[in-house]
Amino acid sequence: MRLDAKALRYMSNDDFRVLTAIEVGSRNHNIVPAPVIAQLSHLRGGGANKHISDLVKRKLIATEQNAKYKGYKLVYAGYDYLALRTLSKRGTVTSVGNQIGVGKESDIFVVAGEDENEVVLKLHRLGRQSFRNVKQKRDYFRQDQSPSWMYMSRLSAQKEYAFMKVLHEHGFPVPTPVDQNRHCVVMEFVEAFPLRQISDVGDPGTLYSTLMDLIVRLAKYGLIHGDFNEFNILLKDDGTPVLIDFPQMVSTSHLNADYYFNRDVDCIRTFFKRRFNYESMLYPKFGLDSNKEFDLDVQVAASGFTKKDQSQLEKYMEELGANGKDECSSDQDMDSNDDDLDSDDQVSGGDDDDDEENDGFDSDDDDDENYIIETDKL
Ligand code: ADP
Ligand code: MG
Repeated sequence: MRLDAKALRYMSNDDFRVLTAIEVGSRNHNIVPAPVIAQLSHLRGGGANKHISDLVKRKLIATEQNAKYKGYKLVYAGYDYLALRTLSKRGTVTSVGNQIGVGKESDIFVVAGEDENEVVLKLHRLGRQSFRNVKQKRDYFRQDQSPSWMYMSRLSAQKEYAFMKVLHEHGFPVPTPVDQNRHCVVMEFVEAFPLRQISDVGDPGTLYSTLMDLIVRLAKYGLIHGDFNEFNILLKDDGTPVLIDFPQMVSTSHLNADYYFNRDVDCIRTFFKRRFNYESMLYPKFGLDSNKEFDLDVQVAASGFTKKDQSQLEKYMEELGANGKDECSSDQDMDSNDDDLDSDDQVSGGDDDDDEENDGFDSDDDDDENYIIETDKL
């Protein structure tokens, strides 16, 4: 999905007010009726209607009819705009550049951050692929009536950010986390390629040990990556790995911890065997090499991403089949080696320049009518 930041240029404050009203309204309404939008956006005399139809035209919201009434729903593009606007107000994203990754459950862009430095914007898109399946059986998620893709993508981004932060603070080789809002995470841009795209690593044995040590060290801190494979390990020029992609991390006290741990280990063993013809008798075993010495998962919970959030997200990802979504190499797909260098899709840039907080349509609106976007700055 493209991120057409250029169109942000044409968004007025009132457009955003209405878009935010639909976001807020969707906490209580599956389809938000127009009078609720008008009320929440504080726009007088049906003034919301014009903005509603503009937003529909721009495909930031969608019209929907249920048995009782017609109303509106936020779609991903609208949610992107809300997040982008908040991030740009905070100054953590100042323009949008190239898309560098399209995962099943995410879109990744290089963007300009504070001081024009390059950072990565990851937009979580949980349920993009298999939303229909989940839709039919998601009733137990529905107490809050918010669209589950929106809620779950936000949880996924919150989780990724919380784990990245705690791991970074404890000296793990992960990107430096920068910011998070809604379904978006902003992080350091790591100048490195995924291991999947690398055919020569010098001495495979050294890298193999480094990676196995990393799995063990994580477990000593009470954590299992859960998707530890050649797609989620970036390798820098100096040969050091950087671990990314954390929405599926689990605690070593998880019921199936040994399964997840062994799967991570097996992914690396299989990859090294097939790509580098490297096999070792030595590999870590859950319970033997992984005794917990610290409790990082407790710290993550303390950071605001609670156990309840964790278990809700986990259930949802299980339904989507998104646990271990990158999947490590199977015998078949390793033959098509360097098949996945990312395309260099160009997307347009975005920037705005006021400082209203999230959801804050009650705050003073003395900013310019339109947002100035600098395009293609990167
Ligand atoms: P997904 O959840 O879709 O698998 P990832 O977080 O694994 O998303 O990112 C997908 C791809 O985007 C990675 O394989 C990598 O090429 C690129 N990428 C992600 N994060 C970064 C980063 N911080 N620095 C550089 N490239 C990154
Ligand atoms: Mg990944």
